[in-house]
Amino acid sequence: MRIVLLGPPGAGKGSLAALIKERTGIVHISTGDMLREEMKKSSQIGLQIKALVAKGALVSDEIVTRLVEYKVTHDPQMAKGYLFDGFPRTTQQAQDLDRILAKVGKPLDFALFMETNVEMILSRLMGRWVCRQCGALFHIKNRPPKKPGVCDVCGTELYQRSDDNKGIIRKRIQVYEISTKPIIDYYEAQGKLRRISGDKETVDVHDDLVKMINEESYQNQKSSGS
Ligand code: ADP
Ligand code: ZN
Repeated sequence: MRIVLLGPPGAGKGSLAALIKERTGIVHISTGDMLREEMKKSSQIGLQIKALVAKGALVSDEIVTRLVEYKVTHDPQMAKGYLFDGFPRTTQQAQDLDRILAKVGKPLDFALFMETNVEMILSRLMGRWVCRQCGALFHIKNRPPKKPGVCDVCGTELYQRSDDNKGIIRKRIQVYEISTKPIIDYYEAQGKLRRISGDKETVDVHDDLVKMINEESYQNQKSSGS
């Protein structure tokens, strides 16, 4: 499976990616996670990234694409398949990704657009708690940890991302509408866009995805006459 997850912040891309990774072992490439790793280093580039992320603005295409290109060309697990989450976020990034994937001979199967409404986004992001150590995602109401403030997976402390507050979330949604939504047309034009409702529980979205993939391969077999 070689896919890109598209959708607004809070559409459930990270949760779906984590579930697919757990079940299939394919590579999960989250540029948000990669940038947060860079931010932990107090390098000049780390500080530059931090200032942009704090505002809810996008990091430059050059920086993000360089990180992705390194990962794609160096991770041996890529052969099993991959899942991009939070990348591409601009048409430029989408074009760069096609170029990088062509170079390694692993073109995309499809881009999955997870459609979600704004109220859902706000309630998901404002209630979100993340593990400092392993990145596992929790939600105060929808997916509470067994012990408050502690990760079920690795026992580390949970935290709320500083960009998960109402003002910055609204800004991120705006940036999404302006910079990222046009990518939907980019993949539609390639015949690679698939749509799914992101308003459900992660396991249900996952089931819908599996159903969609099975139906498509059935249709493909029928049309190839076998
Ligand atoms: P979410 O999808 O919940 O908004 P992410 O973890 O994907 O969160 O991204 C957090 C922040 O990191 C974004 O608001 C942006 O500042 C930066 N970022 C992540 N991915 C990209 C990207 N592909 N291009 C530019 N900036 C990015
Ligand atoms: Zn953890």
